[in-house]
Formats: sequence, C-alpha cells, structure tokens
Amino acid sequence: MVIGAGPAGLATAIALRRAGFGVEVRERAAEPRSGNGLTLWPNGLRALDAIGAGAAVRAGALPAPGTSMRSKTGRSLYEVSGPVMDTIGGRGAGMHRKDLLDALTGVLGERPVFGARCVGVRTEAGRAVAEFADGTEARADLVVGADGIRSSVRAGIGLAEPLRYAGFTVWRATIEFELPPFPGVLSMGGPNQFGIWRLPAGRVYWFASAPAVEGASESRPPGFFENWHAPIPELLAATESEEITATDIYDSEPLRAWSAARVVLAGDAAHPSMPNMGQGTSQAFEDAAVLADCLDGGAGIEPALMEYERRRRRRARAAWSQARMLARIGGWRNPLACLLREKLMSAAPERAQLRQLERLFTFHPKSGE
Ligand SMILES: Cc1cc2nc3c(=O)[nH]c(=O)nc-3n(C[C@H](O)[C@H](O)[C@H](O)COP(=O)(O)OP(=O)(O)OC[C@H]3O[C@@H](n4cnc5c(N)ncnc54)[C@H](O)[C@@H]3O)c2cc1C
Repeated sequence: MVIGAGPAGLATAIALRRAGFGVEVRERAAEPRSGNGLTLWPNGLRALDAIGAGAAVRAGALPAPGTSMRSKTGRSLYEVSGPVMDTIGGRGAGMHRKDLLDALTGVLGERPVFGARCVGVRTEAGRAVAEFADGTEARADLVVGADGIRSSVRAGIGLAEPLRYAGFTVWRATIEFELPPFPGVLSMGGPNQFGIWRLPAGRVYWFASAPAVEGASESRPPGFFENWHAPIPELLAATESEEITATDIYDSEPLRAWSAARVVLAGDAAHPSMPNMGQGTSQAFEDAAVLADCLDGGAGIEPALMEYERRRRRRARAAWSQARMLARIGGWRNPLACLLREKLMSAAPERAQLRQLERLFTFHPKSGE
C-alpha cells in the first residue's frame, strides 16, 4: 500500500505494479489538486523510463533550449545550451504538476483512493498496518510512506527529524503568456531569486524567492522584482494575486533510516530538501525505480528495504546538500559578497560545472548511481 498520491506515491505504485506486486494508493486530499509548474531533470526522466512512465511524462513536458543564470539586470552569468546539455545527459524540462500527476495516473491505470488520511502505521504479526482518520485500518505486506515533507508515516515509525525553516518564501504561478523559445532562467540579486520556465501550451511558470518572516504569507512577491530584467515585470503584471501560491521553505537533517520493519519512505518523506536544485520529483522517481528493483530481487522485504536505502542514500544526500548550499549562497545579502558570487559564477571552469551536472543527471536503477 502506498500513502500519498504525489509524484513519489504514483511513481512508486507504477514501479511496484510493474514488478508484479498488487498496489493500492491512498491519498489524503478529497480530490486531485492542481499545484504549479516544476522542472524535471534527465535523471528523473531516466528513472521514469526504467519504470515505463518516461514517454507519458515527456509528452506533457517542454524541454528547455538550455539553462541560464543571470543577474537581476539580465546580464548572463552562466549559460549551458541545449546541445551541450545533451552531451551531459539531456535537457531540463518544464511541466505542470497536474499534467505530471495525470500522466502518472494514466500509466498506473487506476485512480488513487481520495479522502483517505493516514494517521498512523505499525507492523503487527509481520504485516504493515495503516490507520486512517475515519477509524479504518488496512493491512499490507508493505506500506510506502510517500506523504511528503510533513509525512505522518515517517512520524509513525519514529524517524522524524525536526523541519527547519530556511528563512525564505517562494511565490509561484503558472500563467498563459506568450514567450518565444527561452532557456530555463534563474536570476539573482542580493538574497532574492526569480526563475522562469516555459511550459507546453503557451504557459509560463515563474517563481520568486526572497527572505521572509516565517508564516507572513504575503500574497505577492516583494515589489522590487518589478524592477528586474524583462520579462519579469511583464510576468508579474500579467499574474493575478489569486494565481500566486506562497510557500515557506523547510528542510530537515537527513533521516537516521528510511524504513522500519514493513514500512518504508519515498520522495520528500524520505529526504526533506529545499527546492533550490529543482530535483525533488527527480529524486522521488529515482526512489521509485530503485525500491521496485530491490523488492523484485526476491531477497525478502526487509533486506530489500535495507538495500534500497543503501543504494539511494548517497545520491539523495548529494542533492539535499547541493540544495542547501545553493540556498545559502543564494541568500547572501552583503553587496560585496554578491558581486563575488557573480564573478565566481561567470568565471567557474565550464568543464568542472558540467561534470558535476553530468554526475547528477546520470542514473542507473540497478546500482542507484
Ligand atoms: C517552492 C517549491 C518549488 C519546487 N520546485 C520543484 C521543481 O521545479 N522541480 C522538482 O522536481 N521539485 C520541485 N519542488 C519539490 C517537489 O514539489 C517535491 O520534491 C515533490 O512534490 C515530492 O513529491 P512527493 O510525492 O514526495 O511529495 P508531495 O508532492 O508532497 O506529495 C505527497 C502527497 O501525499 C499526500 N499526503 C500527505 N499526508 C498524507 C496523509 N497523512 N495521508 C494520505 N496522504 C497524504 C499529499 O496530499 C500529497 O498528495 C519544489 C518544492 C517547492 C516547495
């Protein structure tokens, strides 16, 4: 049984079913939620290929003709063109979360059970038991907690690390907007960032991040973004406040373990990370492919869960720490430090940067590397 019908839960269900296991997905929300745009990276797409979901997802994604880091005035600090991305594993792609979840549900061939909030888990007589808010229980050989960064399943098996507020909020929106072919852009100014990704069907996904008091819940990003380079002011002007979602950002220290007896974690539940690498769903898809491969090995469930964690921990930790590092550097406020940051970005040896990306993008489900 899989708890949570987000990217991790649906991909895990697909992977387990493909490996021959019966799977049911139960989701807290009463119905599918829309969400926002996101970026997908070659390692995530490769993991989806391994579980037979790559083509369906690619059909709803728009590969970017390169990626670009810019100053707030639009000066290019670092660019990687699409053809160069192709030599290191492939291009990043923009996709709407709803389209992603629809594509995964289509591959699974069955809608999750909605309105099922898991409130506890335990292992009893060698079987996992999931408890739900309506007082019902369900027994299964295995429960996969794919219930996100505030996972109840993780809390239920005593593996929760406290979430730590990162000190900034991210505002996001997906709007209809005419934009010519455009790389995926991240622009930086002081401790603030603005990202732009084109999505299929004439839509653009933008996000703005800035330091904010935890829980302040301002409905729009701070006004200074309106003075940043084009098309940032135009995107902001074209977006109604009701179209914007504001999210305070958290992560936690890496967990002590990813499973206990017949209960295992996947996606954000297993590795709560900041979004600065845009790797959350890609890492979740790696979890799904590796977990199914380990369970398919016939070694028995509990040894398979140990093997899953062994294969996945290093890569998930690398993405987690790179995201923390980017958040830290991106949060610099001192103008001299920010100038230095721009100089370092422009001057960093391209080969070293590409090698680092290539390592991230290269994923083999068998080894987990
Ligand atoms: C601002 C921001 C920007 C991001 N941008 C990107 C990006 O560009 N690219 C990218 O790859 N990632 C991005 N991420 C990260 C990405 O959203 C997550 O990594 C990804 O959604 C993780 O998938 P998941 O299935 O593990 O968790 P979730 O997407 O959180 O899904 C968990 C599911 O479980 C359900 N659930 C929760 N509790 C229960 C319960 N008790 N019982 C039953 N169901 C439950 C939830 O309703 C939800 O449907 C971003 C995150 C943020 C905050």
